Amino acid sequence: MKITVVGTGYVGLVTGTCLSEIGHTVTCIDIDQDKVNKMRSGQSPIYEPGLDELMKKNIQEKRLFFTTNHKEGFSGVEVIYIAVGTPEKEDGSANLSFVEQVGKDIAANVERDVIVVTKSTVPVGTNDWIKKVIERNLVHNVKVDIVSNPEFLREGAAIYDSFNGDRIVVGADNEDAANRIEEINKPFGIPVFKTDIRSAEMIKYAANAFLATKISFINEISNICEKVGANVEAVANGMGQDNRIGSQFLNAGIGYGGSCFPKDTKALVQIAGNVEYDFELLKGVIHVNRKQQEILLNKLNERFESLEGKKVAVLGLAFKPNTDDMREAASIVITKHLIEKGANVAAYDPVAMENAKKVIDSKVHYVSNTTEALKDADVALILTEWNEFKDLEIGTFEENMKQSVIFDGRNCYDPKIVENYHVEYHSMGRPSVK
Ligand code: NAD
Repeated sequence: MKITVVGTGYVGLVTGTCLSEIGHTVTCIDIDQDKVNKMRSGQSPIYEPGLDELMKKNIQEKRLFFTTNHKEGFSGVEVIYIAVGTPEKEDGSANLSFVEQVGKDIAANVERDVIVVTKSTVPVGTNDWIKKVIERNLVHNVKVDIVSNPEFLREGAAIYDSFNGDRIVVGADNEDAANRIEEINKPFGIPVFKTDIRSAEMIKYAANAFLATKISFINEISNICEKVGANVEAVANGMGQDNRIGSQFLNAGIGYGGSCFPKDTKALVQIAGNVEYDFELLKGVIHVNRKQQEILLNKLNERFESLEGKKVAVLGLAFKPNTDDMREAASIVITKHLIEKGANVAAYDPVAMENAKKVIDSKVHYVSNTTEALKDADVALILTEWNEFKDLEIGTFEENMKQSVIFDGRNCYDPKIVENYHVEYHSMGRPSVK
């Protein structure tokens, strides 16, 4: 099948590459010429394990192409995937201007009947609206079908998820279009869940809101654990063994970040508000998530009378491990606070430092490895649970730091092991080691 994917971010590039891997001929369109040049040479503009190799292979086998030219990209194509961003507007609602532009680009260029598949996360009713945008602007007399196909991949495991996802959601009001999209995805061997368009749109928001709720829930439990002398890890473990609850998304810490949960939870509150429904529970989830970063900072400020002139080693900047994505990363708020308090911040992240430089306080000093960050530091903060940090010998803190005080926002170490070292260790929802 000849397919075009519009937008080559974390979702579009992975989608396009994986569709080419299962045998389709895929053209990816992006408006960013630098990105397109890079991708043509088989280099991914984002860090995603396994993506470069898969791109190179499919470019070589002439199944994967890149262009900035919409006319060229839409020529003779049967199916178009929309995978552009839907970032948050100031009021928390989703910005649909990129999606609208793609709709107009499609209308101006398609010359044959086409199925438009929306991968981007869009509020309920958006697909109906996109169809109207396209139909209103069509230059040629062609038929346009629309399918909602929300994406559930996780950054850092995106290729794995594309081939091993739990389900593919296909929302359509036209059975033939739904069947065609199911057919396209068949080689992935993943169950397809077919439903109507509005339910498909809602599934994406409901799923993300539920996962965010699990995180905020365990974070609240973690805060109570600290006060009553319980250990949140044991609690989560004991809870998670109940199949009705499940063990995933029960890791206490400094909260969720990234390009999806923060914006999608806020957008769902807006979607509910638009129909005069007050989504109180989700508002609480969002509030708790914000609070978690403050909790870490409050602990730090209680421990040190002043951070003025103190060297703070920050380990991890990306919003989660295995990605270079800095969107809504906890490190942005936390490093800003440290700089405001006069600290001397030395930060290290295995892959996100280039992106961090664009969004983090310019006074942060970047170093090239963990040891350099820890050298003569007064305190270390762990903000992302990269394996590189989890595998670190606790002795490394002791050997390199001026004072071995660790605030672990991601519960990377077992306090029982930490007890064997001369370090002061504070984590989330677990007793401190002093
Ligand atoms: P992104 O910001 O990384 O990438 C969007 C890309 O679209 C950019 O490269 C941009 O240059 C390009 N673009 C913008 N307008 C364009 C146009 N008119 N023509 C061609 N290209 C254009 O976004 P992302 O993280 O890949 O997310 C895309 C969508 O998928 C969002 O709606 C997001 O909520 C959703 N989603 C993201 C994830 C994730 O983990 N990132 C997971 C599931 C769903």
